[in-house]
Order: sequence, then structure tokens, then C-alpha cells
Amino acid sequence: MNEDKINKAIEALKTAEKIAKDFYDKPVVVTYSGGKDSDVLLDLAIKSGIDFEVSHSITTVDAPQTNKHINKVFEKLREQGINAYKRLPMYKGEPINMFELIARKGIPPTRRARYCCSTFKENTEKNRVVALGVRALESRNRQGRDIFTTWGAKKSDAKYFDLSHVQEVFKDAKTQDEIWDCTLVTTAKKHKRIIVNPIYEWSDSDVWDYINENNIEYNELYNMGYKRVGCILCPLAKKTEKIRDITTFPRYKELYIKAFDKMLKLRREAGKSDTYGSWTDGEGVFRWWIEDKNIEGQISFEFTNQE
Ligand code: SF4
Repeated sequence: MNEDKINKAIEALKTAEKIAKDFYDKPVVVTYSGGKDSDVLLDLAIKSGIDFEVSHSITTVDAPQTNKHINKVFEKLREQGINAYKRLPMYKGEPINMFELIARKGIPPTRRARYCCSTFKENTEKNRVVALGVRALESRNRQGRDIFTTWGAKKSDAKYFDLSHVQEVFKDAKTQDEIWDCTLVTTAKKHKRIIVNPIYEWSDSDVWDYINENNIEYNELYNMGYKRVGCILCPLAKKTEKIRDITTFPRYKELYIKAFDKMLKLRREAGKSDTYGSWTDGEGVFRWWIEDKNIEGQISFEFTNQE
């Protein structure tokens, strides 16, 4: 594994810790999803010696294997005196799960309407310096960012900063007002959220090399052929990944269908139309949803023969 990338990630975490201490007087929050990238991030945080705590946002549609792995990792962290906690998903001030959220939102979550991510994962750690396991090579959407990020009012207002700039700016930013006209400094002064992505430049093989070289225990889903670990039937997943989720976790298919049935009932009670012809019942919505039918005439696919 490339030592430069490891050192850079550790430097990024140390810089994040400096910002968190100087401006927020709180430890860095390391987010943990139960996937391989967050296992690497966690190990780097431990090795860097920074003051940090670990947060997992419950999505209610994580695989049982993922929950098992998270519980095991958190137990070990707590034994080492590290504060590791889970955040319950909340909607309008009340706890909620994915299925109830779908019914109340009135539409299934899709690539364009990713309301579940904003409810379950985004903005859960407000006004803190937050470390994520985001990598550029994970998706096209994540390219063009950098190791440090500030969000504006909208995601499109996000600003990205490389490590050397941030180190230079924050060397004396606490004591010297107005020296740097930098969004990161003004963000830190207002105690708004700053994101650090220490492994932003890592490839998949960097991640696996690091895991193997450091003997890190990982989620058993990877041994079952999963390349990415995330929510079951995530709308951002590829169709092949969704089909595998349906066969591996058939109970979740039933739960989504029930949620879509309830969603349709609430839509009708509210006088809303069925947006698409196939939305006659939960099963119909599920089929539309799984096929991710953005294109009219898209063909049906193989999972129907596997039921
Ligand atoms: S299902 Fe996908 S889009 Fe929704 S919360 Fe999970 S990762 Fe985000």
C-alpha cells in the first residue's frame, strides 16, 4: 500500500482535529457505515492519535450482516474508551423507518428524489468537523471534490479545498483575524459543518491492500460477493445489485411492497393521482421502482423468474 496516501490521510485527520479543537472545542466525528471504507477510516483515525468519536446513522434498511459488524466494531471501540454511538433516524421530530418514510413522502425514493439520504444520513452531525470515507473513484458524482469540503445553503454551493491549502490557512487562523479570506475559516468561525475526506484519493485496491496489510476485520457481505455495502435496495444501486438484494433479502422486498401499498392508500386519501399507470398496488410500484423506469419501454428483467 502506498505510504504517501496513508501519511496524507493521517495528516488530513490531524488537520481536521486542529480545526475541531481550535474552533469547535469538540472532537472530530468519524462517521461509520459498516462498509470497508469506513473500516479503513476508523483504523486511520486510531493510528493518527487524534481525539475523535464515532457516529453511525441508522437507516433501518442496513443488512443484518452490516448491523452485526457495526455492533462488534462499536463494542471494541467502547472497550478502548472511544465514544461510539448510533443516531436514530428522525423525521419531523419523531423516530421513523424507511417504510414509514416512503408512505409519508408519497413517492418512492429514487436517484433524483433521494429524500431517505437527507433524512437518514446527511446533516445528522451538524456544526462539527466530520470525517467521511468518501472516495473519488466510488462514483462520477464524487469526482471533482477534494479532501476538505464546506457545504453552502445548497449542495451546489459546496466548496472544496486541498490539504496543503487547509494546513497553510489553519496554521494560525485561530489567533489572526482576517488574514485569510477563506470560506473554510469563516465556516469554522461560525461553527458550521466542515467535512474531511481523508481517503478521497484512494482506489479500491488501496482500500483492500490496507485492510489486508493491517488485518482489519470487515463486513461479511464482501465474502458473499458484495462489492459495495449499503442500504438494501438503495435507489442509487445498479440494477444487478438490486436483483441480488431481492434474492438475498426477500423479506425486504415484502416490506417495501407493504410500504408502497400504504403510500398509495395515503396518496388516494389525500386526493393525489397515481403518477404512473403501473402504480395500481404496492407490487406494481415495486416493479416500476426496481426497474428504475426512467425510460419508457425499458424491458423487464430476470428477477421475475427467480421468485
Ligand atoms: S437507500 Fe440509498 S439513497 Fe436512501 S438512505 Fe440509503 S444510501 Fe441513501
